[in-house]
Amino acid sequence: MGKSALRREILNSWSKSSWHKYPRKQEPEWYDKALLKDILSQISDLPALVFAGETRSLMNDLETVGLGKAFLLQCGNCSENFVDCNGPKIHNFLRVFLQMSIILSYIGNKKVVKIGRIAGQYAKPRSNETEHINGGELPVYKGDMVNSFEPVLEKRKHDPARMLEGYFRSAATLNLIRAFSKGGYASLHQILDWQKHYFSDYPIMKKYEQVAAELISAIDFIKTIKLDTNNTSFNEVDLYTSHESLLLEYEEAMTRVDTTTGLPYDTSAHMLWVGERTRQVDSAHIEFLRGLNNPLGMKIGPQYKIENIVENIKKLNPENRMGKLSLIVRLGVVNIEKFLPELIRVVKDNYFNVVWICDPMHGNAYTTGTGKKARKFDDILEEIRLFFQIHERANTIPGGVHLELTGDNVTECIGGKSNITEYDLDNNYTSTCDPRLNAEQSVELAFFVSQLMKS
Ligand code: PEP
Ligand code: MN
Repeated sequence: MGKSALRREILNSWSKSSWHKYPRKQEPEWYDKALLKDILSQISDLPALVFAGETRSLMNDLETVGLGKAFLLQCGNCSENFVDCNGPKIHNFLRVFLQMSIILSYIGNKKVVKIGRIAGQYAKPRSNETEHINGGELPVYKGDMVNSFEPVLEKRKHDPARMLEGYFRSAATLNLIRAFSKGGYASLHQILDWQKHYFSDYPIMKKYEQVAAELISAIDFIKTIKLDTNNTSFNEVDLYTSHESLLLEYEEAMTRVDTTTGLPYDTSAHMLWVGERTRQVDSAHIEFLRGLNNPLGMKIGPQYKIENIVENIKKLNPENRMGKLSLIVRLGVVNIEKFLPELIRVVKDNYFNVVWICDPMHGNAYTTGTGKKARKFDDILEEIRLFFQIHERANTIPGGVHLELTGDNVTECIGGKSNITEYDLDNNYTSTCDPRLNAEQSVELAFFVSQLMKS
């Protein structure tokens, strides 16, 4: 059967609303069903946030990642917050993102494909429905697109109007990202400006300055021999967006048929992933994603059942196209050696074309004695090192990393050159969900990964 015939067959049994017939985990209990209907109809009428042509470019870029010709850097907040839809915050994030990507591409000697967990990462799956706060029990926070982080009963109700606000905040964030990536700030000529952080005088920045100085002299040389440095490859970058496909009502409302190809695309982000908690084989989440033409990701934690992984790969990438499906493994430093070789072997035995991505964050969380969620920087680095080592042994491609980080000076992960300890966590812990690397730890991690790419 030809590929387009296979695609047509998939679309015969799928629609953007076919997921309603499947069991759904993590479902919000929207407090007002009439309001929900009205909000979804408004969202359905609003313009696409991203365009099918851009999404196809990402698919091609991810194919190069899967083939080992480029490296994926996917990163951003665990949970984006509405209040952080703010110029300086987004600017801080983009600056560290660009810096990391220049370190990876210059030292690691590969093109870097950049995908943010941004402009829509507003919904969170949670392990428990309620939480203890100040001696009371409240519905748990599920991300700004569902309820408020504020520990007040009324504000914790699941409010559908928040999805509309999420749409507009995603649009505002994307507008700034597009201006930065195409409007000059991402130009290589600005490379020194990207280091203007709170930590610009820390020792790690000496290493960055050296990279920047070498690049500037390379650019000067190119100018000297009269090659054009005004063209787009010097002055623009492609920054793609992604988030977990969790709120299926919202994703359905954002799904449109592309006029060029006649195929359905979720226009809320370029790439969508299914989380560890919602990827059951017959789940509503898998059903929704299987009909889309976007590149997809699937998180895999150490509790997986191999036969379910195989079945999901077939469902999410029926054409077995490289670049379509990324397996985002989040096994944890203590488990990666036990499980990743098996996953790789099964993928190889089935001739599946997948992009292998390491999420070294979600398998390494722990709770401190004072009840704070933390991650150790050294565990994160070590899981990435093992990811590269296991792929090298298997002769497969370590395609990239998926990270939770911020451009701000937070104290949420332990370790790094500034040696953040458990006692420091209270200094500036602002995440409303999982602990993130701060900007300095992120740059340090980029240097570490760039060395692994080289070796
Ligand atoms: C996340 O990426 O924030 C997340 C919840 O991940 P996972 O589904 O892997 O637990
Ligand atoms: Mn997270």
